[in-house]
Amino acid sequence: MVLATLDTPLDGVVGARTAKPLERAFGVRTVGELLHHIPRRYSRRGELTPLMGLPLGEQITVVAQVLDVRERQMQRRRGKILEARITDGTGTLTLTFFNQPYRIRDLVPGRRGIFAGKVSEYRGQLQLQHPEYEMFENRDEAPGGAQLDEAAARAWAETPVPIYPATAQMPSWTVQRAVELALDALGPVADPLPAEIREAEGVMAYGPALELIHRPQHDADWRGAQQSLRFREAFELQLALLDRRRRASLEASTPRPLSGAEAGGSGPGAGTGAGPGSGSGSGSSSGSTPLDRFDAALPFDLTGDQRRAGETISHELAQPHPMHRLLQGEVGSGKTLVALRAMLQVAGSGGQSALLAPTEVLAAQHFRSIVDALGPDLAAELNPVLLTGRIQAAERKRALLSLASGTCRIAVGTHALIGENVTFYDLGLIVVDEQHRFGVEQREALRRKGTSPHVLAMTATPIPRTVALTAFGDLEVTTIRELPPGRQGIETFTVPELEMPNRAARVWARTAEDLAAGRQVYVVCPAISAGEVDPELENEVENEDAEAARPRPLANVEDTVAELRRRPEYAGVQIEGLDGGMTSDEKDRVMRGFAEGRIGILVATTVIEVGVNVPNASIMIVRDADRFGISQLHQLRGRVGRGEHPGLCLLMTTAAQGTVARERIEAVAATSDGFALAEIDLELRREGDILGTAQSGGRSTLKLLRVAEHGELIAHAREVAAALLERDPELETAPGLAELIAREHEAGLLDNLAKS
Ligand code: ADP
Ligand code: MG
Repeated sequence: MVLATLDTPLDGVVGARTAKPLERAFGVRTVGELLHHIPRRYSRRGELTPLMGLPLGEQITVVAQVLDVRERQMQRRRGKILEARITDGTGTLTLTFFNQPYRIRDLVPGRRGIFAGKVSEYRGQLQLQHPEYEMFENRDEAPGGAQLDEAAARAWAETPVPIYPATAQMPSWTVQRAVELALDALGPVADPLPAEIREAEGVMAYGPALELIHRPQHDADWRGAQQSLRFREAFELQLALLDRRRRASLEASTPRPLSGAEAGGSGPGAGTGAGPGSGSGSGSSSGSTPLDRFDAALPFDLTGDQRRAGETISHELAQPHPMHRLLQGEVGSGKTLVALRAMLQVAGSGGQSALLAPTEVLAAQHFRSIVDALGPDLAAELNPVLLTGRIQAAERKRALLSLASGTCRIAVGTHALIGENVTFYDLGLIVVDEQHRFGVEQREALRRKGTSPHVLAMTATPIPRTVALTAFGDLEVTTIRELPPGRQGIETFTVPELEMPNRAARVWARTAEDLAAGRQVYVVCPAISAGEVDPELENEVENEDAEAARPRPLANVEDTVAELRRRPEYAGVQIEGLDGGMTSDEKDRVMRGFAEGRIGILVATTVIEVGVNVPNASIMIVRDADRFGISQLHQLRGRVGRGEHPGLCLLMTTAAQGTVARERIEAVAATSDGFALAEIDLELRREGDILGTAQSGGRSTLKLLRVAEHGELIAHAREVAAALLERDPELETAPGLAELIAREHEAGLLDNLAKS
């Protein structure tokens, strides 16, 4: 028989009848892919138990003899049922198998064996459904033979049994059988990891690790295998990310130096009189760059962090290689300003910048605030345009033209910017707002519109370091911690509606006070209407108990608007709803009404989450706050306290004390430090959630690695990977790794890691 390799297709090894459903259930097509379908946990067959007085519902193992076997038609369903009675002399037990007639070959009356399963009851008779079993070889046992059987039985009972992620069509034991066939067929496995790393890190060789993760004899076997495979996973991931970053940094791109004043620029608008702004000051505007003029007109000082981030970015923009930087910082920490200054530096040397925003509302708002911040002269000179899916045809045509001709130096938009019909004259910088909303592939698609343009990604969702290493491992990270001065701060309170109805009532009274003082208020709900939950919500319901305890339907925009409009204390206050289901025009109208102060209470879903800036708003009320994630709540809170008025955030909930949902809310109320919250978030989330949506072809790229748990391992693996790349950038000494990385890049496995 020809030995299989990891690349051998499964159907030749396990048979097409198993291979097809395996592919359908888990997307595995090769021996290697199947062997990376790792057991979720290991169970024991259980203590050897006498058949008398078996505990119902427990996992047991018995040594017994087959008494009799019969097969019968099932009464309600099609199919046959095989029933075997076994005895150990102290009692009897029935084994049942559905549609597995071939078992009759094993279960011969008089034969002894060992049987394991969960005890259930059916019509007063104890049974094991689909038990695992092993029949003993020697039928007529000598007295010594029985001894031998006992020892073998005990060993069998104590061997860890792998339990696989399973589906109804592909139960764990079928997976296990297929895995065993694959392991039996597998020839020697080449180990991609260089021996010196294996030795230094105490990592098991690849082949044995695959064997032991699936067929352990003892717990120590699978523990060791798991550790080794987990290290490999972390290492390979970090190596791929670092390699990607290294390659990107080798690309050549146009330097956009600070001093590249317009006279020296190469853009068509620079000093040639062709640009729309060149009319004033004949293209040189008293010899200073757009950034100089912008800074001179800035009504405040940059914070220390803004200045430092600005210097780093400014330096990188001037290099002949592309910048790949993530700028993270609290909501309102002034990231957008840092980004705008970077765009101005690029504009100063004739290049264009594109700011990519996740939603139309945000794109429009960025556009407005950029135009405002630039002031009329710079705006006329740099000709910023807004490009979203809903821009009218004529305006769109004008925008596209100005991008292609280079007269527009700053483009703001949504996915529309990535569209095929969009071409840039000289795209020098891409700014991605709320990077985590996009996949790497979108960033890359926009990048291809220039010659290795610089990339500045921004996120207001603080990311714990380990997540950053994994999700954004190909980016350098700059963090802004300092908030601009004069912020009044935000107080946050939990309002447990069931436990403290008075406090809940007080929410609406307090709101009336702020409205009377001229302030504005947000009310955020998890649902649009009684039947329609906001699709953007982060948290699936944790437990049904919490939902059952909810005294009314989920708080929703529609009902809340109606309810608040009925309240006498809000008479005369304009109350409007905003949700993702509205047309862009409607959304725009409402947002503008709120921004201009005409609307007093804005009742909304999470559409207002990021970046919305109305400094006069002072209260953020979140209803059924248990339905939101920690970072969402933190983001929502950041919508208030942005101006001269202190902010108040009220998190209403019916979640009971002690539940995870309630813990999340209390955590947000207890601290306003986004980074601390990000760490707590990481702890409270269940495994797989963090990069849980990081799916490629329907399955997560990460198998054994849990970002929340294995932060140190990830950081360490990154160091080991960096050291290897340092020694051997092209991985000539580790061809197996080079091939692995090439494959990962090809399959785009890394591309969706960061998306959420
Ligand atoms: P972010 O993008 O990080 O949420 P923004 O750049 O939108 O933050 O800034 C929030 C607000 O703070 C804006 O109104 C901006 O003009 C203002 N701002 C930014 N930097 C400063 C600063 N150094 N001093 C005072 N106000 C600032
Ligand atoms: Mg912002």
